[in-house]
Amino acid sequence: MTFEIEKSDEQWREELSSDRYAVLRKAATEAPFSGSLLHVDADGVFSCGACHQVLFTSAQKFDSGCGWPSFDACEPGTIVERVDTSLFRERTEILCSQCSGHLGHVFNDGPTQSGLRYCVNSLAIDFDKTN
Ligand SMILES: [Zn+2]
Repeated sequence: MTFEIEKSDEQWREELSSDRYAVLRKAATEAPFSGSLLHVDADGVFSCGACHQVLFTSAQKFDSGCGWPSFDACEPGTIVERVDTSLFRERTEILCSQCSGHLGHVFNDGPTQSGLRYCVNSLAIDFDKTN
């Protein structure tokens, strides 16, 4: 896979806080129910914490009860998927299509029409309120 924004590991380490670096570049997972964006109810957009591409809107967010911000769809073309076989099971990792930042995973058990649940680390995204 190739990405529009490619930076060295060192550059990312300099640009991102250590928490964000661990998630976005090393695929760490924040503790469930710890994220600052879990209970955002305002209208707005969620963008990549590394390159600021808009990934989700508040209309796509729902409360999944899983402990991480969850979305039933993403903005078209903003996310790429990769099979992740860590933790002895197969999951689908989601990455920012622009900078390859690790966001979380997508599952096929969503409650809405899309059937999808994008499970995203708060540390990987920023929220901007509209208005
Ligand atoms: Zn990005």
